[in-house]
Amino acid sequence: MARQTDPVCRLCRREGMKLFLKGHRCYSPKCPIEKRANPPGQHGDRRRGRTSDFRPYLREKQKVRRIYSVGERQFRGYFKLASKSKGVTGEALLRILERRLDNAVFRLGFASSRPEARQLVRHGHFNVNGRRVDIPSFLVRVGEVIAVREKSRALPLFKERAAEAESRTVPEWLTRDLTAMQGTVSRLPERENVDLAIQERLIVEFYSR
Ligand code: SF4
Repeated sequence: MARQTDPVCRLCRREGMKLFLKGHRCYSPKCPIEKRANPPGQHGDRRRGRTSDFRPYLREKQKVRRIYSVGERQFRGYFKLASKSKGVTGEALLRILERRLDNAVFRLGFASSRPEARQLVRHGHFNVNGRRVDIPSFLVRVGEVIAVREKSRALPLFKERAAEAESRTVPEWLTRDLTAMQGTVSRLPERENVDLAIQERLIVEFYSR
């Protein structure tokens, strides 16, 4: 019988790279992608292994959607927003994705993965500028302060995350105060702050077809 892998890990195998969806496990030898790089499905799902001209564009879009845990419709909405903004559309798209509250919480080190950050935001553990925000897709703006709510700071999970966060660096567009369990958006994220192997040009071409 085939060894079971976590459904989330199957997404990484589908994209052929680590998407960092499982927190600590992603950084440990338990990450299955090193051992099983083939796509999921029986025999590595050869049917899906067929290549077409369209495939690289689709896969890049799907990969980024999965990294940021964004649904198809919302992702398309982000693309429309990005295409209306000044500058390079692909970079604007990444900037919007980085500004999501769940991503900012992850980047600040208050969650071990984006899916965990999404859940913590949904459960109402964060304030933005002093007001509770439980919408993971909330887009943070320059000057806003993202803070773990006072009641939540005493939870063992946040104590653990705060201890782990000490060894995690924060991207330049955010500043963090671990004692106060909060972070500030000091400027908008730039392309170089997105430390992921993404070819955003392919996503732009996907939607331009
Ligand atoms: Fe699973 Fe994380 Fe490894 Fe992806 S990177 S395969 S989510 S453990």
